[in-house]
Amino acid sequence: MTNQLVIANQMLQHMITEFTANELAPLDMQIDQQQDYPAGLFQKVVDNGLLATTLPAEYGGAGFNFEAAAEALERMATGNASMAVTLEGHFKTIEQFVKYGSPELNAKYLPSAAHRIFAFSQTEPSGGSNPTGISSRAIRQGDNWVISGDKIMITNGGLAEVYCVLAKTEDDRLAVFVVDKDMPGFSFGKREDFIGLRGVPVGEIVMDHIVVPSYHLLGEVGQGLEIGDNAHADARVLMGAVLAGILDHELTIAVDYAKERKALTTPLYQLQVTQQKITDVAIARENTRNLYQSGASKKVAGQAYDEVAAMAKSYGSRAAVLGGDEVLQILGGYGYSREYPIEHLIRDARAMELAEGSIEKMNLEITKAEINK
Ligand SMILES: Cc1cc2nc3c(=O)[nH]c(=O)nc-3n(C[C@H](O)[C@H](O)[C@H](O)COP(=O)(O)OP(=O)(O)OC[C@H]3O[C@@H](n4cnc5c(N)ncnc54)[C@H](O)[C@@H]3O)c2cc1C
Repeated sequence: MTNQLVIANQMLQHMITEFTANELAPLDMQIDQQQDYPAGLFQKVVDNGLLATTLPAEYGGAGFNFEAAAEALERMATGNASMAVTLEGHFKTIEQFVKYGSPELNAKYLPSAAHRIFAFSQTEPSGGSNPTGISSRAIRQGDNWVISGDKIMITNGGLAEVYCVLAKTEDDRLAVFVVDKDMPGFSFGKREDFIGLRGVPVGEIVMDHIVVPSYHLLGEVGQGLEIGDNAHADARVLMGAVLAGILDHELTIAVDYAKERKALTTPLYQLQVTQQKITDVAIARENTRNLYQSGASKKVAGQAYDEVAAMAKSYGSRAAVLGGDEVLQILGGYGYSREYPIEHLIRDARAMELAEGSIEKMNLEITKAEINK
């Protein structure tokens, strides 16, 4: 990395740290309780240029690489994991445009990614783990594609304005198409009432004969699974970063409380049983951080990163759920109260054992990769 890039990255991380401390962390509990971002908060994210973090400079973005973006999400998740996941969904979708989009498609859409959220839509009511079973259809009509189908549990569904959707062509090949929320035939359905990451809208999109020009095809017909897998790998690195941030938040809560609270006259942190819990969470944070950073640096170096990406999310999500439970125990009865944030961190981390591929699917992929080595 050149000196200029190092300095730019330091400025980005400083800005994210300040934004998180001033704008996100104070609203963390409110976002969970309201199940939404307070009015104006998302606009501040846009106004601070955060949507454009990874957008290439030629499309008006800041052009930071994946390592910088992942570090930014870790920092953000120390204050609020929901907003970090909102950005994760956007960043991973931009990556697919950059890798697979034609110049015409990218020229039309990418400049708007600095102020409009993009989303990737694969899951359907029939299931998310096995995408070959989807029912969404793309039928070729002259120079256009006509797309119909129902996608559920889409991160930023309702907030996002541009959607990459996986669909089957008439000959049952999978492909990804780009649709816009303003197109005739597009509508939003149910928003999920999820137990965690409650700021992130996760919802349904309904496509009823949406007509898009042929260049709205991302990549080629038949490349749908590959693009979906690539999006998953990118998302898993970024979610690993979010999980490292959640683990760091858990650790801060544990340390602060263990220094203040006494068992009669002895501060909790002097008890071996508390030390073991704090140690477990600290090691889990470092392991998760190392895994996601390894995934991000391999991607930037052009090396295979899908296995380590799956490890980052598989390991990090379980560790953050278990770590949160350990910290809840340190806090005693207060830990079980909604007045303290630890219970919602457990719920937030739990989402990532499902989103972007269930833990079982990731473990299957890790095992396959090891067996085929
Ligand atoms: C917070 C959140 C955000 C999400 N965001 C998005 C998004 O942006 N875009 C999107 O497309 N989807 C999104 N999803 C959906 C998510 O990808 C799916 O929930 C996930 O892929 C699992 O699919 P499913 O829920 O249909 O469960 P199913 O596929 O029905 O699986 C049910 C259970 O069976 C197991 N299982 C299924 N098949 C296998 C197999 N072959 N081997 C081993 N075990 C298996 C699963 O691990 C799971 O435990 C999101 C989900 C959540 C919770």
